[in-house]
Amino acid sequence: MAEGPLPAPIKTTCPYCGTGCGVDARPMNGVVTVAGDAQHPTNAGRLCVKGSALGDTVVPQGRLLHPQLRDRSAPGQPARRVSWDEALDTVAGQLRRLIDTHGPESVAWYVSGQLLTEDYYVANKLVKGFVGTANIDTNSRLCMSSAVAGHKRAFGEDIVPVAYDDLERADLIVLVGSNTAWCHPILFQRMIKAREQRPDMKIVVLDPRATATTEMADLHLGLRAGSDVRLFNGLFAQLHRQGLADRDFVDAHVGGFDDTLAAADDGATLEQLADDCGLEPEKLAQFYALFAATERVITCFSMGVNQSSAGTDKVNSILNCHLLTGRIGKPGMGPFSLTGQPNAMGGREVGGLANMLAAHMDLENAEHRDRVQRFWNSPAIASQGGLKAVDLFEAIEAGRVKAVWIMATNPVVSLPDADRVKRALDKCELVIVSDVMQQTDTTAFAHVLLPAQGWGEKDGTVTNSERCISRQRAFVAPLGEARPDWWMLTEVARRWGYAEQFPYHAVHEIFDEHARLSAFENDGERYFDIGGLAGLNARGYDAIAPQRWPVRRDAGDEPAHLQVFADGRFYHADGRARLVPTPPRRPAHGTDVDFPLVLNTGRVRDHWHTMTRTGLSARLSSHIAEPYVDLHPRDARRANIENGALARVSTRWGNLVVRARISDEHTAGTLFVPIHWNAQFSSDARVGALVNPVVDPVSGEPEFKHTPARVQAFIPAWHGFILSRKPVSIAHLAWWTRVTGASFTRYELAGEGSSVAWPELARLMLGATDADVDWLEYVDAATGSYRAGYVVDDRLEAVIFVSRQPSLPSRAWLAGLFAAERLDDEDRFGLLAGQPAVAGADEGATICSCFGVGLNRIVGAIESGKASSVQALGEVLKCGTNCGSCVPELKKILARARIATPQR
Ligand code: SF4
Repeated sequence: MAEGPLPAPIKTTCPYCGTGCGVDARPMNGVVTVAGDAQHPTNAGRLCVKGSALGDTVVPQGRLLHPQLRDRSAPGQPARRVSWDEALDTVAGQLRRLIDTHGPESVAWYVSGQLLTEDYYVANKLVKGFVGTANIDTNSRLCMSSAVAGHKRAFGEDIVPVAYDDLERADLIVLVGSNTAWCHPILFQRMIKAREQRPDMKIVVLDPRATATTEMADLHLGLRAGSDVRLFNGLFAQLHRQGLADRDFVDAHVGGFDDTLAAADDGATLEQLADDCGLEPEKLAQFYALFAATERVITCFSMGVNQSSAGTDKVNSILNCHLLTGRIGKPGMGPFSLTGQPNAMGGREVGGLANMLAAHMDLENAEHRDRVQRFWNSPAIASQGGLKAVDLFEAIEAGRVKAVWIMATNPVVSLPDADRVKRALDKCELVIVSDVMQQTDTTAFAHVLLPAQGWGEKDGTVTNSERCISRQRAFVAPLGEARPDWWMLTEVARRWGYAEQFPYHAVHEIFDEHARLSAFENDGERYFDIGGLAGLNARGYDAIAPQRWPVRRDAGDEPAHLQVFADGRFYHADGRARLVPTPPRRPAHGTDVDFPLVLNTGRVRDHWHTMTRTGLSARLSSHIAEPYVDLHPRDARRANIENGALARVSTRWGNLVVRARISDEHTAGTLFVPIHWNAQFSSDARVGALVNPVVDPVSGEPEFKHTPARVQAFIPAWHGFILSRKPVSIAHLAWWTRVTGASFTRYELAGEGSSVAWPELARLMLGATDADVDWLEYVDAATGSYRAGYVVDDRLEAVIFVSRQPSLPSRAWLAGLFAAERLDDEDRFGLLAGQPAVAGADEGATICSCFGVGLNRIVGAIESGKASSVQALGEVLKCGTNCGSCVPELKKILARARIATPQR
């Protein structure tokens, strides 16, 4: 049959990181294929590995399809499916009862940077203007609220003064606390490409950890965790001493010079500064000299700066250096906050944080409150900041807040001291959760479950790190009864009698109101102004092309992309910026004898947040399959932990058990655990439960990067794994992790009990109880080794491997057997022998997720002389040639191979 033409792609935006790449999505025959949008200014057709695998996540598995009510006073009772009317009547009625009885401060919303701007706008309008409380905070509090606070202190408004194009114009890019290669991959690739084209351009990375980003840096400063302010204060003082302050610019446009210099310059020598920062003086001097000598400097900063009890000061210490030297407001220079989430910036536009008002107006400002209240025609307006994320869940636990509506986020996993979040939700009188997934660590606590539309179903706008507004367009029909979040909120507002103020029937009407509010009585007072996008009908809204704000109505011949602050005008009342004194502070709790190490947390390359989407993709789950802790050999030795064994990490707030990865590239005295794993994917790997809930006093952002911790060996009686086409019940085991494979699920296991009757138990677990099934089995009672395979119609159905030792056969090899059409005699022999019968059949750990290229194949190509560069590896194996996310790892493998093979 002749193939028809491909349907035209729907242009939309990636829902993962704050880079905000454009995506061409093509749904066809129930499958969604994606490609980078060649016209989108952010990515010009490229996608990273997560974006490339987006099609894998548009699937019905696990979706919440219908509204449900759950009677939590009857444990064990399943949630009851109800109509939308019944669910919304319950939500509106119960919230109204609590507000009338206990006041507006007794209810709260906890929302998300995953929401679209229109959802975010309606939520903030409803809560701040119609409930009359500011108890609406967002998971962006955990991500970039320190950047927001720093911008406001320095510029008078939360404005990011750099655009992506500037990265290509810079001569020096400084990345502070940012594993950009993994967390903003397309942006990082733009930086690397710019350096290839202009080899004099330099990339310097300031990060206590060695990462894929440091791998590509010209200079890596592995500074002591928490010493950033000391380092930038030292830079400020040195720039001043060297006469590099732009006095004309400072005099004309910036206040706070004397106090800031006094705080920054305590007379410390370079050697003292280096010592305080845990650096070699030569390296620190090299960085200072590079910064001093380079006019076009961009300092990008991310979670390593923001997620700190001194996060706002860290941000301001960076901003100070740019303001002092006038390196702001001109092409190719300035401080640049890289936002974590796809719509963290859109949330800021609508006042998504508990201490903000819509359209960059301030809750504390009576004039602003009056203006917004008049615009909304609302009966009330919150008059003071609401509870920030950590305080909010504390207030729920204390019973001061009696109801919470959680939208598009999973706080039982992601908040610090996450077990307290569990306790709080367990006690809470009314927990409403709108989500796309039925079963998450948080939905488990819901009284009311509301099915939200997922990526591909919902329609709206998002704004990325450089203030670029893009459309997220729907391209598939919503599953079940899923509805937009703005619709749910609007329906509740109408039930409270506010139909007139919430007249929305389509998303473009909300965007229009948001745009009009941004321009309302603005007169240039606020830089955020998208009045030029007001008044669009559905068609005009649908056609919005990616564009950076401001988009003013009366812009005249104003260039489409303004250079922010080019005229030296800032947004404090006097039009000037502020240098902010930032006396250095150590992290809130130092280490002590019980918890002598420092726990750091962060992302991995191929997973996103709590894995509700990326965990569905076999491709994305193959790069790093299990939760882990990175630690230095010295700390591992002290705790008697071997590489690949299990380790227990403990803090004062909780503990977990994960796989140990020991490397001398990791800094001694520190531990690193990724943030993604949770109770849906592992028995004991929710790192949020371990994190100190201390927050920055200005921004309220928690200290995810520095919790005193200890590590101990976790020694089960046995280790094992199962690969099975059908689900296997493993919840009773001491430790487990679940990983999505291409045609199977992989379970990593560990258990107690040295005398497990494996032959009987394995058959039960794998569902092979008939006596005549094709069952392969090997038992060695002396060594405690057991392996078995279950074959159906010559295809492998399931395997189980068990040993007393953590080292077990390659899962990549076995995954290859699951892909085989039929198992031959050599495969069967290999299964019983516990290793491939044919040399080279073991791919090894996945490095390139796009083409499924494993470490062993890459090393084989290098050792055989077929490839000696990243480019050659791409030509031979294709690895690194699609999204490029694995290039830093390929570089590292090549470097190691060169060390292992001395040059003659
Ligand atoms: Fe999505 Fe990757 Fe682009 Fe981030 S860099 S927006 S995850 S494609």
